[in-house]
Formats: sequence, C-alpha cells, structure tokens
Amino acid sequence: MTAIHLNNIRKSFGTFDVIKGVDLEISPSEFMVFVGPSGCGKSTLLRLIAGLEDITAGTLAFDDKVVNSLTPSQRGIAMVFQSYALYPHMTVFDNMAFGLKLAKGGTDEIRRRVNEAAEMLQITAYLDRLPKQLSGGQRQRVAIGRAIVRDPKVFLFDEPLSNLDAALRVQTRLEIAKLHAKMHETTMIYVTHDQVEAMTLADRICVLRDGIVEQVGTPLELYEKPQSVFVAGFIGSPKMNFLTEKHADTYRAHTLGVRPEHLEIRPKDGAWNGKLILSENLGSETYLYIDIGAKDPLVVRQDGTASQQPGELLYISPINDNVHRFDQSGRPAAS
Ligand code: ATP
Repeated sequence: MTAIHLNNIRKSFGTFDVIKGVDLEISPSEFMVFVGPSGCGKSTLLRLIAGLEDITAGTLAFDDKVVNSLTPSQRGIAMVFQSYALYPHMTVFDNMAFGLKLAKGGTDEIRRRVNEAAEMLQITAYLDRLPKQLSGGQRQRVAIGRAIVRDPKVFLFDEPLSNLDAALRVQTRLEIAKLHAKMHETTMIYVTHDQVEAMTLADRICVLRDGIVEQVGTPLELYEKPQSVFVAGFIGSPKMNFLTEKHADTYRAHTLGVRPEHLEIRPKDGAWNGKLILSENLGSETYLYIDIGAKDPLVVRQDGTASQQPGELLYISPINDNVHRFDQSGRPAAS
C-alpha cells in the first residue's frame, strides 16, 4: 500500500504557472478524486504524479521515497486515459499482455494474469479481437485491464469515462467502484469533471481552482460544509442558489447559498416569492425556476412532477434553515 505526499508542488510551462504550490497527502489505498473547472490543472497534476511531466519545484514522495526523477514504470503506476490509448494492430490479449512482455514476464504467468483481469472485467470473450472490433465501453475495459495486469501500486485515471455514452458511463463507473473494492490495497487517483463520478467513487475529493487546492474532504464534507463560495457552487448539481443578504446590524452583504433540494414551496409566507418562469419535469423530480427579482432565477427541486404553472406566484423557504452564509471574501461567515 502506497501513500502519496505532495509537498509544495509547482509546474510551469515556460512562463505559464499551471500548478502553483500544491500540498496534499493521499493515504494508502485511498480513492482520491481531483475535480475543478476546465483548465484548473487536474490533468497536469495527475501527469506530474504519473511521471509524464517534469515537476518544476516541490517534492513528490511515494511512502518515504522521493520519486521526482523516477520514470512512470519505476514509480509502479498504471494510468488509464480518456482516449483508451490501445495499440490498434494488437489483439485485446496482446494489448493487455504488452507491458508484462516488456517486463519479461514468463508466458504462463502472463496468460494467467491477463485471463484473471479479463474475467474481472468480463472481456474474456473478446481476447482475440482487435480494438476496432470493440465498442467504446469494451475498449475502455481493455485499457483498465491492461493497467490491472501490471499490478500497480498506484492506479491513475484521467477522465476515463468521458468518451462513453450515458448508460455505458454508469455501467463502467460501477465497474470502477467494484475494481476499487477488489484492489483494496491500490491507491487510486481519478480526474473527472463529472459530479456524480466524483461523489460516488471518491473516498475524498480534492477541489482544484486555478492551480491550487481549494478544499479536500469526503464527498459529504464538501457537500455539507463547503469552505468557500467556489466549492459550494462547484459541488452539487444543479448548482447551489446564491443570493445577496443584507446583514441587519452592519449592512455588510453576505452571500446566502441554498441548494435546490433544500428549498420548498409554501402555501404563503415564504422567505422569498416570485413568478414561476419554467419547470423542468424529469419524471422522478422537477426543477422550478422562479424569478424572485435577483440576478438569477431561484432553482427549487421538487419530488415527482409539479402542478405549478408558468406565471404562477410561488412562496419559497429553506427547509430546516438549511442555508450557507459566506462573507465578502467568499469564506463561511461567522453567524
Ligand atoms: P480539463 O478539465 O479541460 O481537461 P484540466 O483541469 O485537466 O482541464 P490541464 O489539462 O491540467 O487542465 O491544463 C491546465 C492548464 O495548463 C491549461 O491552461 C492548459 O492549457 C495548460 N497546459 C497543459 N499542458 C500544457 C503544455 N504541455 N504546454 C503548455 N500549456 C499546457
């Protein structure tokens, strides 16, 4: 089991600073997910850990060994990419066996390991096929299989499900969760911009913003106790509503954050009221968009289908005072 220590890690491309001093401790066998807006440096940070990019400054250690100058294979990592990166002219078996052959493994041992991984990922029937004869989901399972057979200490995923359609994404996500349960001694780091993947797969999520760590915590910690407006707005889908609240004593404006699922429609006397602009009916739930005179419409989640009609005046209040207050610096306000 491998712990990963990042100490003031920096990465610049020329004069462009992409990673600006990241400190992070990843525990042995943890499933850590990196999330953040496009361009915040998630993939770059993963590639630095993998050894695919040189670290500009700082120390990266696996357990107590500094690995800054080691190659990916010396680090004992395996990586799965969004693009699968399979060899098109090789069969599935040969793709999966390739790394082991390079490492001069014995033929029987290679066959045993490939078969074991193929079984785990249910791709045994495709071992003789070429990648082009597989669906996207099957190709990604081969790519994962190729990583598994090498029995890595650290398993890295860079948006592995992005090229799959919605149904396959769900199925493959479940497979990755099962894989983590089976390979429970392997430390995993996973980059995604998908909320559901982050929330369901992670032991902990690291939210990155513009090359720095904004907050690290379990999915529930980030959902329940976001330490900034940024994290509050980033974690959760649909997004948290933000409103400006005038502070009665000081007239200092606080930002009030309320999640759509923490608002309800009242018969009268709401904290806010306004006209329904649009309702998005998803069958199991409905999102109501209400114009309360603020910059953005207030979004309210309701179970099931909604009976309210556009133009109707609605009264809205938070359920159980489930609101977040942030001060002008964007940090939680002392209330
Ligand atoms: P996305 O979610 O869009 O994939 P990301 O958070 O993974 O984004 P990175 O791919 O890490 O972001 O890129 C971070 C920044 O570094 C971007 O502005 C990108 O243009 C820049 N960058 C990445 N690789 C290089 C490179 N080889 N040379 C110059 N700039 C680079």
